[in-house]
Amino acid sequence: MTASETKALRGLYAITPDGIDKPLLLARVEAALRGGVKLVQYRDKKRKATQQAGIALDLRALCRRFDARLIVNDDVALARAVDADGVHLGGGDGDLAAARQALGPGKLLGASCYADFDLACTAVGAGVDYVAFGAAYPSPTKPLAVRSPLSLFGRCRDELGVPACAIGGVTLDNAANLIAAGTSLLAVITDLFEAPDITLRALAFQQLFEGETTLRRRTSLSHRNQQLFERAQRHIPGGVNSPVRAFRSVGGTPCFFTQGSGSRMTDADGKSYLDYVGSWGPLILGHAHPEVVAAVQQAAALGLSFGAPTESEIEMANLLCALLPSLDMVRLVSSGTEATMSAIRLARGFTGRDTLIKFEGCYHGHSDSLLVKAGSGMLTFGNPSSGGVPADLAKHTLVLDYNDVAQLEGAFAEYGAGIAAVIVEPVVGNMNLIAPRQAFLDAMRGLCTKHGAVLIFDEVMTGFRVGLTCAQGHYGITPDLTTLGKVIGGGMPVGAFGGKREIMEMIAPLGPVYQAGTLSGNPVAVAAGLATLRLIQQPGFHDALTRKTQALCDGLAAAAKQHGVTFSAQSVGGMFGLYFRQQPPHSYAEVMDCDKDAFNRFFHAMLAAGHYFAPSAFEAGFVSAAHSDSDIAETIASAEAVFKVW
Ligand code: PLP
Repeated sequence: MTASETKALRGLYAITPDGIDKPLLLARVEAALRGGVKLVQYRDKKRKATQQAGIALDLRALCRRFDARLIVNDDVALARAVDADGVHLGGGDGDLAAARQALGPGKLLGASCYADFDLACTAVGAGVDYVAFGAAYPSPTKPLAVRSPLSLFGRCRDELGVPACAIGGVTLDNAANLIAAGTSLLAVITDLFEAPDITLRALAFQQLFEGETTLRRRTSLSHRNQQLFERAQRHIPGGVNSPVRAFRSVGGTPCFFTQGSGSRMTDADGKSYLDYVGSWGPLILGHAHPEVVAAVQQAAALGLSFGAPTESEIEMANLLCALLPSLDMVRLVSSGTEATMSAIRLARGFTGRDTLIKFEGCYHGHSDSLLVKAGSGMLTFGNPSSGGVPADLAKHTLVLDYNDVAQLEGAFAEYGAGIAAVIVEPVVGNMNLIAPRQAFLDAMRGLCTKHGAVLIFDEVMTGFRVGLTCAQGHYGITPDLTTLGKVIGGGMPVGAFGGKREIMEMIAPLGPVYQAGTLSGNPVAVAAGLATLRLIQQPGFHDALTRKTQALCDGLAAAAKQHGVTFSAQSVGGMFGLYFRQQPPHSYAEVMDCDKDAFNRFFHAMLAAGHYFAPSAFEAGFVSAAHSDSDIAETIASAEAVFKVW
């Protein structure tokens, strides 16, 4: 190895696990090499010297096949006997110079220097090619091992000019932090050799070093997310069943997920992520909460669907009406889109008027009347924001600016007698997060009452997410109709709309407004929702969620500030917004003013580090009760590492 090759040493360094049979050991090392491991360190304190020589010879042959290097731990004689590529020694042993001489040129010498920079200086003086420091995270195999400050790795690289290796406690979750801090070699045992698929795990580590494009070119190896995305596109438009999942906004390949548990989920490449999307809001308890899963299993065993009434629907309706005083009656549907679409038809049927007011940037599902953007002038009727929406329909929708009281007053002054409803996200979560001004919500309530229009709070996202009394309780406003979804299904397809009795009694079969659904009130979905609603009623639930979400925002904002990055963040209950802009925005125009490229850079850096944020600069994020304080701290630490090299 030439001096410049040595300096460029970079990648995954597999350390062989102790005490397993030779065939198993060789199979595991081969799997790791297939995933792109650059160095293998043979360490075997438990075997006799003669056995070690046999294994080391086989490992050397294996490494050569994959163009990787074999390093022998703590045994210069063995390394020479098998013609290994180098030796790794303890830096304090005092025999580094002798080892250097014995090994001769072209062989690698590495030294463990614990957390001691002076020791590293001495080791470099003695001719080592890389320096290993105890990693900054606890090691499962050596819980008492010394832990280095992250700053040591960059210092070693910059001041000593040799690659720094992190050894002990390195996992896929903390690897990106270590790399960002200046680590060139990640020495891993447990999180590599105990992974369900060693090759995929090695690939995931390598991805952190190599970036995605290089990885895509690695045709002989499997990169499952990429393969799945290519397959998906053959028969699913864009490869996804809902557009934002396609990563179009941020670029790159979407993750295909195979499993979720608590605050984490795992993708098809075996990489684990802390999840801040939570299925876009429903998973307020985290993934696969045992009580929710048990409720689903029990209900499913009794029958998947009846297309006829069940008792659990009554329980759900009673509970929703008890928790939200604005609801006298409620009807269950299967999605948020159905809930808002039905609420609008109901408001039109009830008032006998056609005009609808919505706000630019609010999303209420994909029904025709709601896929409308602002017209060309102030107070002009809207244009379709999607192909396939008739202009004739869009012309009934007036699109106004969020948080703009004067404009709302103007609209009522001009069109008041024809306005059937105002529909609003009381806290917007669909153009990133925008908090309402109290005066805006108050004015909306007053104007609807004065002009006989129906006020619809679309709480599909905010419902039970910002608090147990939803946004309407939080801001002290009583809407005429409320739409719900997400949390009330606990991860299963449930939506609902409800409100004043006199309005709700207009629905079929009581009244003339038609609305129906084959799977509405589905017993399995309702069971998941009821179990979720039961758990979130525990005292202090939303306080804890609010505190954690706020801590995330505060921590991210402080990390950005420390490194001079223009950034702000805010939260309401368990939902949050991140903005690459000085202050949180109040309107659609201000949201559009955020630095989208900066967000995309942040998104990908955090994704690589194992933190899954919404793949768009214009979506809110979600924290669940399953996120621990240390999860939040881990995310903040990763963001700090990202901002540091911004
Ligand atoms: N309303 C709001 C506020 C939403 O955020 C969403 C979805 O994100 C919807 C309605 C539509 O719900 P669904 O996707 O379940 O149809």
